[in-house]
Amino acid sequence: MSKLNELSHFMHTALTDAEKSYQNDLKIYPKAVVMKIGGQSITDRGRKAVFPILKELVENRKKHEIIITSGGGTRARHAYQVAIDLNMPVGVLAEVGGAVTVQNARMLQMLLAKDGGIFLDHLEFEKIPLFLRMGCIPIMPGMPPYSFWEDIPDRGSIPIHRTDAGAFFTAEALGSDTVFFIKDEKGLFTEDPKKNPKAEFIPKIHVDDLIKMDLGDLVVERAVLDYLKRSRFVKRLVIINGTQPGEITKALNGEYNGTEIYRD
Ligand code: ADP
Ligand code: MG
Repeated sequence: MSKLNELSHFMHTALTDAEKSYQNDLKIYPKAVVMKIGGQSITDRGRKAVFPILKELVENRKKHEIIITSGGGTRARHAYQVAIDLNMPVGVLAEVGGAVTVQNARMLQMLLAKDGGIFLDHLEFEKIPLFLRMGCIPIMPGMPPYSFWEDIPDRGSIPIHRTDAGAFFTAEALGSDTVFFIKDEKGLFTEDPKKNPKAEFIPKIHVDDLIKMDLGDLVVERAVLDYLKRSRFVKRLVIINGTQPGEITKALNGEYNGTEIYRD
């Protein structure tokens, strides 16, 4: 077939036909280790929580190619409250909340500057492999950049894609199989352990079983569970207690003392 004919062939091909020839997705940079540093749970606690975590990440960075994504936290929650009171739609909330994750990413980057911390805008996604190969630690704002195009929530106007979803999609896009969430609790419990200290710890659970449990409150954004079911590459979410020294190192080496939420 001549080049011209090949092209005209494509012009007349419906997308559903194109889909029939689907084979698989490219794993762009599967060695990348995406770690979200919680906003409310870690960054908002200031130096006491943040400094030991960054120290541990730096100690591990020769062995593991770590990308840090930031959280939002209390400032994002406050901004959502004000925006809701002013009748702002979901896309505006996503922008406003996203700005807070830029603030947190900037501060984390400055703290890691001497160790190769580099602030990475979403638009610089393609540079991630280069920075990792150079030994840098890319730090990305955690909010996924849906911005004004954020999905319509079933209720209210809080974006369903926040910073846990951002970490998940960063890992999924790069082809990594594990997403790490550094928070302030051991992992997932049957209830929020801050509200009920008697809540039971769940060390490992299949995502389907967790969805079936229909817990009132979760340690990760609910939307991430639905995406985990459909993911091509991400196979597990691992919650790490960042307030316990050594837990990040163990998790990076495959020893999950927190909760592992897995797909298959
Ligand atoms: P981040 O700082 O990453 O945004 P969040 O504050 O949104 O983290 O979520 C972590 C918090 O979720 C924990 O500090 C915990 O108090 C709360 N939480 C709510 N429900 C649960 C649950 N079922 N198990 C564990 N933690 C829970
Ligand atoms: Mg959160």
